[in-house]
Amino acid sequence: MIVILRADATEANIQHIAEQATKLGLKTNISRGAERTVIGFIGPEDALRVIPLEVFPGVEQVLQVLAPYRLVSREFKKENTVIKLNYGETIGGNKVTVMAGPCSVESYEGLLSIAKKIKALGASILRGGAFKPRTSPYDFQGLGEEGLRILQQVGKETQMCTVSEVMDTRQVELLAKYVDILQIGARNMQNFSLLKEVGMCKKPVMLKRGMSATIKEWLMSAEYLLANGNFDVMLCERGIRTFETATRNTLDINAVVVAKRLSHLPVVLDPSHGTGSWEYVGAGARAGVAAGADALIIEVHENPEEALSDGAQSLMPDKFAELMAACKRVAAAVDREM
Ligand code: PEP
Ligand code: MN
Repeated sequence: MIVILRADATEANIQHIAEQATKLGLKTNISRGAERTVIGFIGPEDALRVIPLEVFPGVEQVLQVLAPYRLVSREFKKENTVIKLNYGETIGGNKVTVMAGPCSVESYEGLLSIAKKIKALGASILRGGAFKPRTSPYDFQGLGEEGLRILQQVGKETQMCTVSEVMDTRQVELLAKYVDILQIGARNMQNFSLLKEVGMCKKPVMLKRGMSATIKEWLMSAEYLLANGNFDVMLCERGIRTFETATRNTLDINAVVVAKRLSHLPVVLDPSHGTGSWEYVGAGARAGVAAGADALIIEVHENPEEALSDGAQSLMPDKFAELMAACKRVAAAVDREM
């Protein structure tokens, strides 16, 4: 259930409703949009039926939200969520934001060199995994805290925001100390303990879609983050598992369009993991921009043959330059900035 307030509703009207809900054991979330304020309720909503919210001062309408993901839904918030980051960066506005960098942080020198190149080409957020979810326990697992230190250092030197994956509840505080955006990986999309912990942390989050998750399950996972107090959430489509084996995953462009219709949260597209092959990354990125993605995340490496993870899908800087130029043309064609 959500309560839509009249344009002339006062702060006292809002607080009165919030107090009544608290008495009934519910938490509230107050969303102050450009046109209207909406109050959402977190907890067992049936309790609200005992009070006639329709006639409370300042209330315009009481709506039953049909979607099970209440706070994430467009019904709850009509306007697109715009996430504000350091250096004046945003995700979710008219601009297509670009995140890029290696799959894993490998060394300070390597990351600094790649960061300078991608920044000059228009990327504003630096990616780099320090804790890697590898299928084999014998594969490179990431540099851990040292990787985060390097990422933070390079981010500062190049004035770029940073994003890195948090794999475990025990790492949340550590990641929050070093990076601007916490990434929840595909393999952890339904790690509900992790979702709750990251929900309680006040850092922007990028929630990747699980490789076999439906859009509804993905949005329900995002709901965990919002229900625990974190509204700076972006969704990330990174390809799903289908019967097709010609590509590592099947990049689901539909998911960008559907998620943006069902939810107010920004949607990021990851054509690197979505295709698994550097040759297809550019086409995936262009399709994503055309479909309305708010941001792209692209794996870039100066020497993919020697990358410690995901070399096959990493672009060399010159190919990344081509991708950026082509995506800018697509962005202009669909009235977006890039
Ligand atoms: C990654 O971003 O390097 C990664 C492991 O992504 P995903 O969780 O989408 O596989
Ligand atoms: Mn990767």
